Amino acid sequence: MYYFDYCATTPTNSEVLDYFNKINKELWFNPNSNYSLAKKGADLISETSQTICNYLNLKDYEIIYTSGATEANNLALKGYCLANQKHGKHIISSPYEHSSIVATLASLQKEGFEISIVETLENGKIDPASLKELMRDDTILVTFTAVSSELGIINNVEEIASLLTQYPNCCFHVDFTQMLGKQKFDFSNIDMFSFSGHKIYGIKGVGALAIKASIKLQPIINGGKSTTIFRAGTPSIELIASLGKAIELIYTDLETHQKDILEKSEYLKNKLTNLSDRVVINTPSDGLKSVINLSILNIPSSDIQNFLDKNDVMVSTQTACSLNTEYSATVLKLTGDMERAKSSIRVSISYLTTYEEIDYLVKKIGELLCI
Ligand code: PMP
Repeated sequence: MYYFDYCATTPTNSEVLDYFNKINKELWFNPNSNYSLAKKGADLISETSQTICNYLNLKDYEIIYTSGATEANNLALKGYCLANQKHGKHIISSPYEHSSIVATLASLQKEGFEISIVETLENGKIDPASLKELMRDDTILVTFTAVSSELGIINNVEEIASLLTQYPNCCFHVDFTQMLGKQKFDFSNIDMFSFSGHKIYGIKGVGALAIKASIKLQPIINGGKSTTIFRAGTPSIELIASLGKAIELIYTDLETHQKDILEKSEYLKNKLTNLSDRVVINTPSDGLKSVINLSILNIPSSDIQNFLDKNDVMVSTQTACSLNTEYSATVLKLTGDMERAKSSIRVSISYLTTYEEIDYLVKKIGELLCI
């Protein structure tokens, strides 16, 4: 098996799984109950939130645990807009968002909210001038992804966050799912951000929305009292604890992994571009090193994926969550080139990726090109 789809999901780190099993055996109680072992579970949830805040350097944030980033994005957007609509109904977003943002915005639009899409610069990042132009008195929320999952564009969200401090009535949400554990980040001017465990070698089914203490949300999952007022339901102590463990592990090794991925990414890109003029890299040069979106000109994306799949190689066309279309709208938006958009795939690597795997992928792409 040759796995090159680490943006879609990652295998669970065995240390994370062992910790999940330990907590599941020792603290399987309902943390909302009132006896001491249940309270011990509730305490472990609080300790996990503290661990996450320490690793991400967050001050005064609440961590609301969810089933993943899709739910966290829904809660951020619907929860904030519904709770704050008396101040306005205008939202700003970008053209490079994940489907869980796009679909949530579409649903809010049906509820009478107005959505504006910001212009982007040539490198795909947010155009601050366009954002300023779009800002209005009734703009209550701006939501941008930290990294576009299909192209690996690293957005200028820290710069945007600082710009938005001039608009104190507007909340800034960041979909941090593809950035978590990739590089250090300054959250100080960010009001809410979403992330997910399974992108960082954690377990599927747990993620979170981090919100500044001043933020008010309307819950989208209603029910009884829980460890947070913003999300009802029995929290899974073991899943939450496993998320904390995954964050601890990924941030402890952050710099080693960054260096390793940088080298592997350069090695792969060099090999690919030396293969043929028909191989073009779409990810901008200052994009996330673990994402290599490329086009193999004149071969449809689905044919590339099928050929590689038959050879035991896993890559993505567009993203795992996008609606399958014949061309990638985001590659088209970034490059303005329909041929590239029709023949693009996303290769995503990890510190687990080996040079042997990379050589195999390049060899197979060579065979596809009949080289
Ligand atoms: N946002 C981004 C940028 C993503 O890449 C993903 C996962 N593909 C999500 C949100 C949704 O995450 P989850 O699978 O945890 O619901």
